[in-house]
Amino acid sequence: MIMPRFFRNGLSLRLTGRFALVVVGIYVFAASLYSVQFLNRVEKGAGVAREQQIPLILSQNRNALKIERAASLIRSVYLAHDRRVERQIQLQLQTLTQSFTLDDNQLLTDGGRNIAADVKIITTQREVARALRSDTSGQLDNGKIEQAEVAAAEAYQRAIRTTEALGDNLSNDAVQLADGLASTIEKAARDVRFGWLFILILPAVFLVLVLWVVSRHILRPISAAVSRLEARDDAVAKPIFEELRTVTDAVEAYGALSLDLKRTNEMLLVLSDQDGLTGLLNRRAFEQRLDNAFNRAIASGSELCVLMIDLDHFKSINDTYGHEAGDACLREVAVISSSFFQRHGLLVGRYGGEEFCGFVEGQIDSVSVLAAALRKAIEMLSIDVGFGKKIHLTASIGVSCLEGREIGRAGLLLKEADGALYEAKHTGRNRVVIRGQSNVSVFGATGGD
Ligand code: GH3
Ligand code: MG
Ligand code: MG
Repeated sequence: MIMPRFFRNGLSLRLTGRFALVVVGIYVFAASLYSVQFLNRVEKGAGVAREQQIPLILSQNRNALKIERAASLIRSVYLAHDRRVERQIQLQLQTLTQSFTLDDNQLLTDGGRNIAADVKIITTQREVARALRSDTSGQLDNGKIEQAEVAAAEAYQRAIRTTEALGDNLSNDAVQLADGLASTIEKAARDVRFGWLFILILPAVFLVLVLWVVSRHILRPISAAVSRLEARDDAVAKPIFEELRTVTDAVEAYGALSLDLKRTNEMLLVLSDQDGLTGLLNRRAFEQRLDNAFNRAIASGSELCVLMIDLDHFKSINDTYGHEAGDACLREVAVISSSFFQRHGLLVGRYGGEEFCGFVEGQIDSVSVLAAALRKAIEMLSIDVGFGKKIHLTASIGVSCLEGREIGRAGLLLKEADGALYEAKHTGRNRVVIRGQSNVSVFGATGGD
């Protein structure tokens, strides 16, 4: 895939970090601005409700009470039938209906005026009826009296209807006002809900995006590089940030280097333990193994035997057939003793020029048989030294066996074995001398073999 030039080495973590900071800054600024604005709007809505709608609702409530009172006064004036009482109630009604004009409500003002006019008709017609009844000049004019009473009753009905109409109208207004107030509150709640959803969802989306980028483009490449470092062959995904690419490249290079070093170290470790000519353990490595066996023997109280093997008159082989032939003999003896020792679960190393050393754990009784068999095996060797010439050689073996608790030091065991070997050499070679505590046994071609 062709990548843009600026992306070829990955994005800059520093620049991306700065960009993210700027985005977060802009977001915080915009969110604060938006929050302040919509909270202001909500506050303004509440102010409008408090300053306009609530006083209106209170005034509606007051007017409703006044209308109820007016209806009750209308009923009283109609039922009074007493001029003085009618007059007093009429005055009260006039004051009440005049107070309707205080509110800027045309319907209420007109209604008040109509009620006052109808009440005036009631009192006037009642006055007319009373005057006709009290007329002493002639016969009672019942027709006119009834006419006046009917006019008063009609005025009463009208006035009551007017109060009912005003009451209904006020209720409708109150419902509208309450509805308006509820809408204002509802709108404010909607604004708050939408605003907060907007403010909360954006950071959540941003956070998910950041986590995705961190997981895919930072953590995964680092863990792949670490896997490489641990020498696992995972396909390495390159991080998109150039700084991280440099880090993971360095980690990978370090991983490859440390793997090479580890392999080299393992090889060196093997080589450092090995004798170059025979492939057996060298003296240092052998002594290390012997030390461990020695500690095991001390801990368990078991027996430990050391066998020191020296080839007889080896110098003369070198002198007669050459150094190469000597080397071939050393290799052959190494092969035979190593396979012999391995077969019996023993360990052998090249201890010096033509000296080999082995040890046996916990086999004091059978070690004499083993040593004798090894001596015999060496004696039986027929070694090709070139020019079609085969030669034979012999070895002297010194064995030292001690029980764990009486061993004292590993060095003492080797010294004892060396002493036994010296004795084998000086008592005729090609033999085995065993030293265990105080007794010495000799086995050989000419001894107890
Ligand atoms: P002895 O029976 O008393 O042990 O006699 P020897 O000749 O075996 O003993 P000496 O210590 O006199 O000689 C050991 C010889 O081993 C001397 C040395 O040249 C030879 N030698 C030591 N290391 C090597 C080696 O790596 N290769 C060869 N070819 N010869 C070696
Ligand atoms: Mg020697
Ligand atoms: Mg020798």
